[in-house]
Amino acid sequence: MKVLKFGGTSVSSVETVNNISNILKKSTENQIIVCSALSKVTNMLTEAAEKAAAGDISYKEICTQIEKRHYDFIDELIEKSQQADLKDIIHTNIASLEKVLEAIFFLNELSTRAYYIIVSFGEKMSNAIIYRFLKIHNGSVGYLDSSQIIITRTVNDKEHVNRSVTYKNIKDNYDPNFKITVAPGFISKSENGYATTLGRGGSDYTAALYAAALDAELLEIWTDVSGIYTSDPRKVKSASPLPKVSYKEALELSNFGAKVIYAPTIQPVLEKNIPMVILNTFRPEDKGTLVTVETDDTKPIKAFSTMDDIAMITFSGTGLVGTTGIAGRLFNTLSRNNVNIIIICQASSEMSICLVIDAKDANKAVKAINEEFDFEIRKGTIDKTEAQMEYSILAMVGEGMKNAAGLTGKAFTALGSANINIHAIAQDSTEINVSIVVKKEDSVKALNVLHDSFFNA
Ligand code: ADP
Ligand code: ASP
Ligand code: MG
Repeated sequence: MKVLKFGGTSVSSVETVNNISNILKKSTENQIIVCSALSKVTNMLTEAAEKAAAGDISYKEICTQIEKRHYDFIDELIEKSQQADLKDIIHTNIASLEKVLEAIFFLNELSTRAYYIIVSFGEKMSNAIIYRFLKIHNGSVGYLDSSQIIITRTVNDKEHVNRSVTYKNIKDNYDPNFKITVAPGFISKSENGYATTLGRGGSDYTAALYAAALDAELLEIWTDVSGIYTSDPRKVKSASPLPKVSYKEALELSNFGAKVIYAPTIQPVLEKNIPMVILNTFRPEDKGTLVTVETDDTKPIKAFSTMDDIAMITFSGTGLVGTTGIAGRLFNTLSRNNVNIIIICQASSEMSICLVIDAKDANKAVKAINEEFDFEIRKGTIDKTEAQMEYSILAMVGEGMKNAAGLTGKAFTALGSANINIHAIAQDSTEINVSIVVKKEDSVKALNVLHDSFFNA
């Protein structure tokens, strides 16, 4: 059996939904299909929630637009005689959505739990429509309610999938008598029974969980581009799809901004050694990118990607040199405050430690560090910490870098010739990823400079 995931743009037009139906018809094996919300609907739901919390009544207009969007979609896709009860399902969902938004509006507060409930409506409605469409055009179709099957546990205010319980639920509920089974992406339930989600972009992860639980032969991620490209095609016009990358390379790229695949997706398929292919719903004949344990040895560097909205923190002072325990205290402080560190650099002079973090954590991190080292700061052995904002990380990814000399040199020369200043560099001993910190304003130019010098020279 195989699992196919279709992203938001793939479930938003008659053309692509017909493509989905035809793609499913080509296969004789059992298939589970995981769909996202209609394109942009999760953003609209988020906006409605934020408006309601801010006391802005125009959240109601967004609800009306969302409802109309789904009704129009049903009108285009489904014959008249089959529409009424499907529209009722949409209407019931919108009525529940409005109730939650109204509560938020009166409370003037958006809790994490309420946010999860609100964004869940996107996948609930899109999958109800796709399920109906496939029942009409593809024969008997099963349904797995991911909101009851995928179970999460809260750790440090974040939802993590409880894989053993989830896998058991999937196995217990999957009925192999259905050739096609629809399972909504993104939505889940906490161990305590309230609605949760797998995070933005999480439908890819949902599909990987179904694939791993059922030992699928293949996971297909159908999106709006023909695979993993040498760089984000929206930022680098000359980027082209890669035929083959390894799980490790896909993980590095997705961790560092390649939105085409949601990073947590990789682990479940890697563990079960399930091949994954990234394909284009708009051009189903394209080959796409195959992701397996093997890499393409002919290309030491596979791709470049960027992660924006990054802050840099320099922790420095004479008190760092030769003193044990300082780094431990620094990292513990950040961990206690739920600050995720993306890059750590320290030169052997030990005069400073540079930390690269998400910009949204910068104020919290600086406050925590200055409180923790208050005594040393007053003594003058550690400098008061400040965050520098508006940075980006540029990642250069490829398993072949460990066997090839001169690649980083070539990258630095190219950036230097283009007058792009490098603010920090990090490479770990696996040598799959070289991360370069540049000013955010230089990020797209730097990406194009590197891409041109490695792939278009
Ligand atoms: P979906 O809605 O199908 O999940 P996403 O918008 O999440 O699609 O991901 C696809 C997008 O990822 C592409 O349209 C592209 O702009 C972006 N992207 C970023 N980096 C890359 C890359 N290296 N290769 C391909 N696409 C990328
Ligand atoms: N609809 C969700 C989002 O936009 C999940 C997904 O599309 O993967 O983030
Ligand atoms: Mg996505």
